[in-house]
Amino acid sequence: MTTLVIATRNHHKAREIRAVLGDGLRYLTLNDFPGAPTTVEDADTFAGNAAKKADSLARWLAEQPIAREGGALCVLADDSGLEVDALDGAPGVVSARFAALDSAPSANATDIDNTAKLLRLLHGVSTPNRTARFRCVIALATVGQTRPPRLFEGVCEGLILDAARGANGFGYDPVFQPLGYTESFAELGEPVKNRISHRARALAQAARGLEAP
Ligand code: IMP
Repeated sequence: MTTLVIATRNHHKAREIRAVLGDGLRYLTLNDFPGAPTTVEDADTFAGNAAKKADSLARWLAEQPIAREGGALCVLADDSGLEVDALDGAPGVVSARFAALDSAPSANATDIDNTAKLLRLLHGVSTPNRTARFRCVIALATVGQTRPPRLFEGVCEGLILDAARGANGFGYDPVFQPLGYTESFAELGEPVKNRISHRARALAQAARGLEAP
């Protein structure tokens, strides 16, 4: 069985990834490796950050004694964020630290602060002009192989609501209404989100990559 190390400490992301990829893999996350180095996410693209996260963790894992249970050892890194057309694509790669950019540019902000900043900036913008998309790039690396990580991208189009709605999910889920729905991601909940999200779409392709690690 392939062991998949998910390069995140975000338990929402890890849960979505496991739910979409299913039971055929043995999963670990960064929480299982407290000594793993932190990757500075300083690339200006999702692909650049995802590849950097997967590559650095795979190199570090190659030096660690890990029980592989006979199968391949792979690393999966997700870099994702929200692109809002009325804000020229912001917050984009800085989605996690959007509300902290002026005070502590390298620190993540809380989901509540990020969402509040987004709603403030879009105040007065009419519904047709509130178009946005979530973008996710998944990078897949095989520990012990020297080739660069393989990249898989998924996009989910939608609109930014006027106010937060719903209690599920994380990040900007309460203010994002996917195209074709009248509820936010946070109202729709994981079963629907995991069928249509940017992450689910990238993972559907990555799953095929995992069949031939
Ligand atoms: P990352 O951990 O650097 O990839 O940061 C991703 C950030 O983008 C998160 O902290 C969220 O703010 C936002 N984001 C990414 N994916 C989602 C999602 O599925 N729902 C809501 N927000 C998301």
